Amino acid sequence: MLARPLPVMHLPSETVESLVEQLSKLPTVGRKTAQRLAAFILKMPREEVVEIARAMVAAKDRVKTCSVCFNVTDNDPCPVCQSERRDRSVICVVEEPSDVIALERTGEFRGLYHVLGGVISPLDGVGPDDLHISALVGRVAGSKATPPDGEEMPTPVEEVILAMNPNVEGDTTSYYVGQMLAPFGVTVTRIARGLPIGGDLEFADEATLSRALEGRAG
Ligand code: ZN
Repeated sequence: MLARPLPVMHLPSETVESLVEQLSKLPTVGRKTAQRLAAFILKMPREEVVEIARAMVAAKDRVKTCSVCFNVTDNDPCPVCQSERRDRSVICVVEEPSDVIALERTGEFRGLYHVLGGVISPLDGVGPDDLHISALVGRVAGSKATPPDGEEMPTPVEEVILAMNPNVEGDTTSYYVGQMLAPFGVTVTRIARGLPIGGDLEFADEATLSRALEGRAG
């Protein structure tokens, strides 16, 4: 009996295969992109590859969450929460740390932030208690309370700007947060709808974001 000729095949590298598999865990990276990235990594100088890998691990090990605003930071509280130059009477509420970066890029906003860590989404099993909403209420309430003897009077929060993304979950979350803040006598505004519907704050250009901030409405 004649042995059938083996089909011509490329000998796969298990190491490359595992790199492709790891890279495709990242958002927006499909298998094809992962293969392209892996091929690129193989051609890069070794030092550069080590730098990327080190930066990833360092970010994971060293980055903390600010205990006041829940933004990512190397130091707790974060530089924004610690800054003397920020307007402490205004808090801008966003979904994710990437939204803070987008708003900071506009250079328009001088207040403080509060990162919710997502939006209310019953379909994904995310309820109000999974987000940093009660911490926000605590911040607003705390700013208006009389401090214990000997402690400095904090700047009362006058305005809370809701900058959730313009979609169903963003609207639901804004409504809920607005209701929770209602008893505390703060002006609750929402950034204007200059943003494309369903568009991510994170991807809006600076001019659009600036206009949205200026045109906010109660
Ligand atoms: Zn902070």
